[in-house]
Amino acid sequence: MTLAPPLVLFDVDLTLLTAKGAGARSLLAALADLTGVRIAVETVKFEGATDYAIHGWLCEEAGVLDLTEEFRARLVENYLGRLVAEVAARPPVAMPGVAGTLERLLAAGATLGLATGNLERGARIKLDPLGLNRFFSAGGFGDRHADRTDVVLAAIEACSARHGVPFAPSGTVVVGDTPRDIDAGRRAGARTVGVATGNHTRAALAGADLVLTDLAEATRLAEFILGPRATSKG
Ligand SMILES: [Mg+2]
Repeated sequence: MTLAPPLVLFDVDLTLLTAKGAGARSLLAALADLTGVRIAVETVKFEGATDYAIHGWLCEEAGVLDLTEEFRARLVENYLGRLVAEVAARPPVAMPGVAGTLERLLAAGATLGLATGNLERGARIKLDPLGLNRFFSAGGFGDRHADRTDVVLAAIEACSARHGVPFAPSGTVVVGDTPRDIDAGRRAGARTVGVATGNHTRAALAGADLVLTDLAEATRLAEFILGPRATSKG
């Protein structure tokens, strides 16, 4: 009997890498460009939220009463241009063990994808300097969804289409650094892994099915995702 290969969906910020605030700085600068309103980065809670939702909050805060698709598109283009420059000036840093763990999961037969609140192009810009885009041919992103559960469901759909495999939520594992990632994974019907490389302690992530200090814990993660068949690789 062959089990369907598991699908593993990774959050980006503070799970795979830190962009050292480049996303928040770029977005607030783009907003200031378009509205003249400067919002202090400390006053905004970005983590675990989708960019789509964040755009809504920020525009409300900046007094944009009618957030049209046209305005949103201008904000996105301004943001992405700034993000490219920020990332070039201060490249993101990968979290401990990331590339090795992704290699190991792939070698053991897992399919990898993204489930992130970033815009797709934003996620790709952050992952690119680290050579991590090659691991993720598809995913769910924050371009159109305010609710992170919808991002996870969209990721499962996109990965199924890309790989020609009907992945189900029950065969999916969501990996992230915030309680919002865990909550979204659970609501989507997936198993969940919390990694304490962000602003949340292991205790704060205890709602996950597995909690790791960081992604260098490759063996524990591989065994959780793949079962005993992962252990033969050492
Ligand atoms: Mg995160």
